Amino acid sequence: MIIKQKIKKTDYKSVKPIFDSSKKRVYIETYGCQMNVNDSELVLSILQDNNYSLTRNIEEADLILINTCSIRENAEQRIWGRLDVFRLAKNKKPELKIGIIGCMAERLKEQLIEREKIVDLVAGPDAYRSLPGLLRNVEAGQKDINVLLSREETYADISPVRIDENGVSAFVSIMRGCNNVCSYCVVPYTRGAERSRNPETVLNEVQTLVENGYREITLLGQNVDSYFWKDETNPEKDVNFAQLLEMVALVNPAMRVRFATSHPKDINNGVLYAMAMYQNICNCIHLPVQSGSTRILELMNRKYTREHYLERIAKIREIIPDCSITTDIIAGFCTETDFDHEQTLSLMNEVGYDFAYMFKYSERPNTKASRQLKDDIADEIKTKRLNEIIKLQNRLSLESNRRDIGKIFDVLIDGFSKRSTEDFSGRTSQNKTVVFPKENYNIGDLANVRITGCTSATLIGEIVDEKHHETITELKNIIDETIHIVENKIKNTIKDKIRK
Ligand code: SF4
Repeated sequence: MIIKQKIKKTDYKSVKPIFDSSKKRVYIETYGCQMNVNDSELVLSILQDNNYSLTRNIEEADLILINTCSIRENAEQRIWGRLDVFRLAKNKKPELKIGIIGCMAERLKEQLIEREKIVDLVAGPDAYRSLPGLLRNVEAGQKDINVLLSREETYADISPVRIDENGVSAFVSIMRGCNNVCSYCVVPYTRGAERSRNPETVLNEVQTLVENGYREITLLGQNVDSYFWKDETNPEKDVNFAQLLEMVALVNPAMRVRFATSHPKDINNGVLYAMAMYQNICNCIHLPVQSGSTRILELMNRKYTREHYLERIAKIREIIPDCSITTDIIAGFCTETDFDHEQTLSLMNEVGYDFAYMFKYSERPNTKASRQLKDDIADEIKTKRLNEIIKLQNRLSLESNRRDIGKIFDVLIDGFSKRSTEDFSGRTSQNKTVVFPKENYNIGDLANVRITGCTSATLIGEIVDEKHHETITELKNIIDETIHIVENKIKNTIKDKIRK
């Protein structure tokens, strides 16, 4: 069955923040993952509807909200450090209110108010709708807290206000929470059980972003592959992640679609076929492996083996040959031996990751690992192993980037290069950053860029000249048309696979 697109043409709704000095001003600082960035946008939307406006200046703020992360100890340390700075602001302006929201709020609850006298309110990730009420109590002179987790809350009806004003890329949450309980991870305790968002509200949000000129969205969830919307009235309308991806891709072919994060135990061929079928779904998969050793993966409760992971990689390469693959790696998990570590290095070599986030294991209170396993790897060994992992990844990233030299990519321009306003920075479908002289292009444009050089982190390129550009565009049109014809012929076959 083909999923019918039911996108209502919405009245144009701006997703830009309001800056209005006649209203109360909120300053929001966000730490941690992309989900937190998107949550801050939800929070701003709720506050704007309650007579607040945004400020980017602490001195102007009537309210400071810190959206926190608990994933590693040093993330929490940074937030304690920031509170010292906000204490100075509160000394200067005693009526200033300070709130802690997000994962650290959920983890530490009232301890935050007890330990930090300057904190007026604490709200967990499922309590943002109650912020106006909490703020009224705070205004009345009380401290207030709401850290209740919910089994239903997805904020589906709230349209986030985009705090980062680049106007090109936006995050769209499709689900909240996580059911996986990886033994090292605090997320299931701070963000609660997994819930999927109504797909219609996802499509409406994407449509609103199209109307606001956005060119790229990233669908967010702790484990997007387990997205599942159950339609209580009609099982035929149930939607899995591959189907949602397809529905989102169809909203507008000019809108690039990305997603994060995938889970190796759940990513299925349907998702890969959807990626292969729709040109606007970017060819990049972030597939956290965490360790190359099956023994360690079992202790981490990741529910896949090294062999299963490598089989998924082989399938990605088979179905989407030019897909980039990125990952997360933890060095020095409980009981990790030199052999386990070697297994991680060998797996990295075998996959040839384009990019990786790499960390030393940091025990988090109340997780399964903290209760059942001993954090028994000395810090100097963790550091040594992490350095080896980073060194190898730098080499793999450089090799991957060198392979791109001479190729031409569609690059979505999302800002200026960090070094010069004469150069733009943008990203390829594979999510690699490219820097190139800006010529007559604008932020938000797609440019054809030939890669002329690279570092391990960045591709360097030049816009292909107009004549060449025109020839390429003509060729692309012919190819696109051919693909379209072929696609239509094979669509029905592939659609069956997506739905499996
Ligand atoms: S999948 Fe594992 S690592 Fe990711 S959020 Fe869930 S429990 Fe944490």
